[in-house]
Amino acid sequence: MNEKAKESHRKASRKYNETKEGKETRKKAYQKYRSTNKHLNKTLQRMYGITLSQWQEMFEKQKGCCAICGTHQVELKITLNVDHCHETDKVRGLLCSGCNKALGLIKTNVRTAKGMVKYIDNCC
Ligand SMILES: [Zn+2]
Repeated sequence: MNEKAKESHRKASRKYNETKEGKETRKKAYQKYRSTNKHLNKTLQRMYGITLSQWQEMFEKQKGCCAICGTHQVELKITLNVDHCHETDKVRGLLCSGCNKALGLIKTNVRTAKGMVKYIDNCC
């Protein structure tokens, strides 16, 4: 295909993509892509610098459970989150959404975490 034909094809594709049918086709293609391991692998590499294999190794090492509360993946609505240090970008482990959010809220402050444990122990 020569350059003129390629450009003509691109224009036709862009025009088709703006139609309702084109948008629906693109949406389905994107959803299909998102459900693949290829997408997951790229996302893990882009966001955390790890491969899907490394994620699976962590998952196996943690026996499919959150590293903090121990809730198993089958009990969770969403996949275990990759927890990482925001200062060093080092991946620490896989956490359930609740534990990941809690760590973020206390800004991974050990003193605060210990204070929370002490507070809970004294209350109950
Ligand atoms: Zn948890």
